[in-house]
Amino acid sequence: MSVADARIYARAVTGPYASWRIVFVFLTQALFYGLPWLQWDGRQAVLFDLGARRFYLFGLVLWPQDVVYLAVLLVISALGLFLFTALAGRLFCGYACPQTVYSEIFAWIERKVEGDRAARQRLDQGPWTARKLRLKAAKHALWLGIAWWTGSTFIGYFAPIRQLAHDLFTLQLGPWQWFWIVFYSVATWGNAGFLRESVCKYMCPYARFQSVMVDRDTFVVTYDKRRGEPRGGRSRHADAAALGLGDCVDCHWCVQVCPTGIDIRDGLQYMCIGCGACVDACNDVMKKMQYAPGLIRYASERAVDEGLSRRAAIRRLLRPRTMVYGTLLAGLVVALMTALWLRPSLRMDVIRDRGVLGREVAGGMIENVYRLQFMNTSGSPVQLALSADGLDGLALALPDGSTTVRVDALDNKIVAVVARAPAAGAAPGAHRIVIHARGTGTDGAAPATDEAASFFIPQ
Ligand code: SF4
Ligand code: SF4
Repeated sequence: MSVADARIYARAVTGPYASWRIVFVFLTQALFYGLPWLQWDGRQAVLFDLGARRFYLFGLVLWPQDVVYLAVLLVISALGLFLFTALAGRLFCGYACPQTVYSEIFAWIERKVEGDRAARQRLDQGPWTARKLRLKAAKHALWLGIAWWTGSTFIGYFAPIRQLAHDLFTLQLGPWQWFWIVFYSVATWGNAGFLRESVCKYMCPYARFQSVMVDRDTFVVTYDKRRGEPRGGRSRHADAAALGLGDCVDCHWCVQVCPTGIDIRDGLQYMCIGCGACVDACNDVMKKMQYAPGLIRYASERAVDEGLSRRAAIRRLLRPRTMVYGTLLAGLVVALMTALWLRPSLRMDVIRDRGVLGREVAGGMIENVYRLQFMNTSGSPVQLALSADGLDGLALALPDGSTTVRVDALDNKIVAVVARAPAAGAAPGAHRIVIHARGTGTDGAAPATDEAASFFIPQ
């Protein structure tokens, strides 16, 4: 079998599900290409600044210490996927997965340049002519243009996109930026232009484990065997019942439009991405034959097997599995929102200077040195007054004697501080003290934080 034979030449299809796929292509791409250009408080609204180790999500700034929020966000995404799959199968794959969306865009370009299924097959199987060369060159130029735009936009989520665009057009990008843009562009071109359904069939892990999330009550694209079989060709005016035939006219349209090249009449297969193209195609055929639509439809296996009404099938969406997923999801979302809402805008970490334990200095004082790391997650600078208590006569100051420190908006700052207490005031050993930072923000806020530390008095 030649490569051309092995390729899938999906036929174009129109209908409600095809329209929904176009809507989702526009929505997801408007989001992907537009989001990094959005500004928030004078900075990029969504930026994963790996260099500065900060993630900006609109008003939220996450630091490495906030990795727990990202972990919870990932768990929420996974639970959302579980719930969605248990309810409606692989709808995410069919409508919003980047692999599907880019394959859809690339296939659309291919159709516009080379023609629909039969024209493309003829072109691929024919000899290389000037026309073929021209069409292939035009297609790949357009594919590469989209791939380059996609790669550059993707990098714009990790490096400020306005600067990136400027550096790109003036050819001033750094070597790593060139590398990653070229890498993602080639990956997009390869995945959406050549690999396409092979990614869904052979590489995507979600396809493999979806079977554990799907049950007989999940809505999936289903062929109604009871109605369709026995299948067979007939004229439009023939009486199917008299011929002993079901409603399937065995036209293979459902197979020809399938982006993964499967026959849904063989039952639910892990390669089915739930795109609904076969539903649109079959409904077209049913209309031409003047049969009722829905021989292939979104329905649960139980509804098709037991002939349940749509309302009864929808009622069965509420079952223990979906209720557990839903409850966990809602609980985690509420917990995350609450934690983010209560998240302090000022944080302080106290790090003891391990090289210098307590030491005696002039004036009969014991001195301990600490490093304080402040994180100001608010959008305005803050002036902090530092103090400490826990020992009689304990005083805390920066090495220059001052007791205040300024931390800029969305910044972190590390300062060394010296704590001193009279040697005669406490017994040798480690003593618990508390370091206080009381702030005054330029926006009128008064953030405050306290951290415990140990103060060491030598023998
Ligand atoms: S499109 Fe419908 S009628 Fe045609 S083969 Fe598929 S299921 Fe049968
Ligand atoms: S079988 Fe139907 S729903 Fe599944 S991938 Fe093929 S065309 Fe899409």
